[in-house]
Amino acid sequence: MAELVPVPLPLLLRRAFLEYQREGKIFDLPKSKFFRGIPGLDFSVSFHGHRASTPLGPAAGPHGQLAQNIVLSWLGGSRIIELKTIQILDELAIPRPCIDAANVGYNVEWSQELKLEQSLREYVGAAMFLEILQASRLLGEDFPAGETIFDMSAGYNLEGIRSARVRAWIESMMNARPVIDELRATLDGPLARYRDLPFPTQISDTISLSTFHGCPAGEIEGIVGFLIEEMGCHVCVKMNPTLLGYEEVDHLLHEVLGYHEIQLHRQAFDNDLRFDEALDLVPRLQRRAQACGKSVSVKFSNTLVVKNHKQVFSDELMYMSGPPLHVLALNLIRKFRERMKESVPISFSGGLDAQNVANAVALNLIPVTTCTDLLRPGGYARLVRYLENLGARMTAHGVTNIPDFIARHAGQEAALVEAATADPRYRWERNKGTPRKIASKLWLYDCINCDKCVPDCPNDANFVYETAPAAIEYDNFELLPEGIRRVPGGVLRIVKAHQLANYADVCNECGNCDIFCPEDGGPYKEKPRFFGTLETYRKHAGANGFFMDHAAGAIYGTISGEAYELTLDRAADRARFATPAAEVEIRLSDNEVLSGVGLLACPQGILLDLLPYLKLKLLYEAIRDPRHVHFANVAGLQEVNGGNEESAL
Ligand code: SF4
Ligand code: SF4
Repeated sequence: MAELVPVPLPLLLRRAFLEYQREGKIFDLPKSKFFRGIPGLDFSVSFHGHRASTPLGPAAGPHGQLAQNIVLSWLGGSRIIELKTIQILDELAIPRPCIDAANVGYNVEWSQELKLEQSLREYVGAAMFLEILQASRLLGEDFPAGETIFDMSAGYNLEGIRSARVRAWIESMMNARPVIDELRATLDGPLARYRDLPFPTQISDTISLSTFHGCPAGEIEGIVGFLIEEMGCHVCVKMNPTLLGYEEVDHLLHEVLGYHEIQLHRQAFDNDLRFDEALDLVPRLQRRAQACGKSVSVKFSNTLVVKNHKQVFSDELMYMSGPPLHVLALNLIRKFRERMKESVPISFSGGLDAQNVANAVALNLIPVTTCTDLLRPGGYARLVRYLENLGARMTAHGVTNIPDFIARHAGQEAALVEAATADPRYRWERNKGTPRKIASKLWLYDCINCDKCVPDCPNDANFVYETAPAAIEYDNFELLPEGIRRVPGGVLRIVKAHQLANYADVCNECGNCDIFCPEDGGPYKEKPRFFGTLETYRKHAGANGFFMDHAAGAIYGTISGEAYELTLDRAADRARFATPAAEVEIRLSDNEVLSGVGLLACPQGILLDLLPYLKLKLLYEAIRDPRHVHFANVAGLQEVNGGNEESAL
């Protein structure tokens, strides 16, 4: 199992600048999918007293973990970004795969996979990235950067949240000066001009709280009290859909929506916070918050814990999201508002998509957050449609801002919730299908090139590279005591110029790209997996892995479990190729083995298969091709001197 290894901030910036200038995209999101505002409309909202330029953002999850994910969410129009949940246990082994968004949306990925210190650097780095992006004017003078809120998410119990490490983590998010200074120092070369930007040192002072299933009311109160009174944060308490009660969830999920195969976990309902407890707890927390100048809100809803009835995950339980959760969350909100005497700000999560976002905002749910929908084909490119649709609804109602839009819908809550509950788009019949598979197997080279696996990945781990289609006939060689002898080889066929690869350092093997790939095997397993350092390559290559040493002009590769090294000297027309059995010198222009030594004591000689050499050579050249900018080649790319690239960087 590979571990996530975040990309250093200077490389992220370098890639974004070069990729935008050469290909008109950033982290594979085309500029046509960047949200540039809608003339005449003001989407801004207030959250915990801070202003954000849109009410939209990713829910704590895969789209708010690595710095590039946060930037991608932002480019799509997110301005309230709920960061992935952190907790004291930061070395958990999450089972893989951990995401199944084929139709409904399930996961077992409930916590961050980075160490606390890494998460801190990712979140601070993302905030700095956005400042640099704005200062550079790369996206144009008129790009509406606006105001963005980073919202921390923390879990899961009082002991963990009060621990010295989590406490220090929260303090560092509230005053990130030391981390900022450390990251500033890494901005060298053309990026040095951004070192002295006045980066805001407070990355966040709001926390959305996740608690374990079964967390008692007293424990929730203890955590919120600690966060408000000792840490000085505003807090949003994430509520579970179990709050609706077993009978109501059973009725909605099974009888109304028709998801008969989903089995509820009664224990979760028995142990979780009860509705009446929540009605007492929330106003009490609000009063405590007000007493120290802070605010408390609630979020509906967390995912629903259900029994695992599928074969995707190994765990006994899994967490349901997507269309059925949308209906559960809306009904829960309606019930909560009907029974709650006080006014409580509510955030929303639960099957949000471009079609229902306007209704969610109309219900005064701020922010509206999304996750499952972004795992579907198109990924972050789906976000811009949310805001376009919201804008269209505002225009249709003759309003130009969100408060007026909400006011227009006052008193319509029951009607809006009932309409969603009755809407066939949330029912099982509409969500039972699975992505089409075409019964063909993925290999290292070639596939049907649908390119779904690139935007489907929350971390932008999959990427496209170009190679020359070819049928390369090659000989093999025998290294004998008396010399080198040519023996019959074979043909390496590459049918397509357009090829796919994976950058394994940022792939957490969640499995999402496999779900949507029409071919079998999983792009993240079958396509060449590139690592960012020799160290991670050596540790995690497994049966398939590569590392480009740009400075040394070398590529390391493990193919079918055998490790090889190829060092190229183009000027001399020579390469050094090392296999586990031999080390040889090869003439690059005609792939002739010129000399070599066996590394194994083998009196009958050693057969040298040239196929791995050819694969490494082709990959080395294709990955370095500057037409595409990606994580595997950005460290080795040359800027174009004197051109736009030079001036922007
Ligand atoms: S690997 Fe699969 S998802 Fe990716 S482009 Fe090829 S066929 Fe499409
Ligand atoms: S490449 Fe695939 S498996 Fe890896 S993180 Fe991305 S979606 Fe998940």
